[in-house]
Amino acid sequence: MLLSGRVAVVTGAGQGIGKAIALKLASWGADIAAVDVNLDAATETAREVKAMDRRAAAMKVDVVSVKETEEMAEKIFKEFEGLHILVNNAGITRDGLILRMKEEDWDAVLNVNLKGTFNCTKACLKYMSKVRWGRIVNISSVVGVLGNAGQANYAASKAGVIGFTKSIAREFAGRNITCNAVAPGYIETPMTASLPEKVKEEIISKIPLGRLGGPNDVAEAVLYLTSNAGGYITGQVLEVNGGMSM
Ligand code: NAP
Repeated sequence: MLLSGRVAVVTGAGQGIGKAIALKLASWGADIAAVDVNLDAATETAREVKAMDRRAAAMKVDVVSVKETEEMAEKIFKEFEGLHILVNNAGITRDGLILRMKEEDWDAVLNVNLKGTFNCTKACLKYMSKVRWGRIVNISSVVGVLGNAGQANYAASKAGVIGFTKSIAREFAGRNITCNAVAPGYIETPMTASLPEKVKEEIISKIPLGRLGGPNDVAEAVLYLTSNAGGYITGQVLEVNGGMSM
């Protein structure tokens, strides 16, 4: 088992990509702290993990809160006697053209996607540093790499995640802690479910592999980066987008 004995924290683990990541890491041996603002959804993920004979906890945490994320990391470290892997996956969109974008839409997206990543990373690094082993994977987006009209807030947050990732990679390489970003393209989840069919067709026409991605496509990339197989990779952005950005 690639991840036996590892304890993984996955934010936004109640649905979509985060849930797929939690189940994937568990299927390869990791114990899972399923973190989400939606406790019922996180509890269901934890139940599915336990059904694989792994340890699991569901936690209601808003990643924007410094207090909640610090308490989260402390509780996980105590309960599981370790904290080795962090996947910063929780994210939101509040789309709109820039001239109509409200300040609260800018703030909300930057807060969850970027500040949330900072909060969880800082809180968990404290414990990874103790054991001098750690894997952090931040979920960015193709939109953070290419930009997208109508998503200036989201693109800025996801590009920010990439700069943050490279900085943490440099700061913590000496302690055997890697930090990478995975930048998915368009993945079929509740986040993209509301896209009109016409928009989906337009997107698919720009994807060389000819289909939208699935949450499992992203989870496989995260598995690789969190395992020993990915141990010599740090500060990178792995683009999982069917060739969209080449
Ligand atoms: P999703 O289906 O909306 O799931 C996101 C999860 O995060 C939800 O359970 C959500 O809870 C939770 N969440 C939201 N705000 C939170 C907060 N402040 N603290 C803790 N949890 C919070 O999204 P997804 O499509 O799986 O996307 C997951 C990640 O991949 C995001 O970072 C997204 O930006 C990124 N991504 C997605 C795509 C795509 O095409 N789907 C492409 C590129 C990148 P609620 O539902 O209760 O708010």
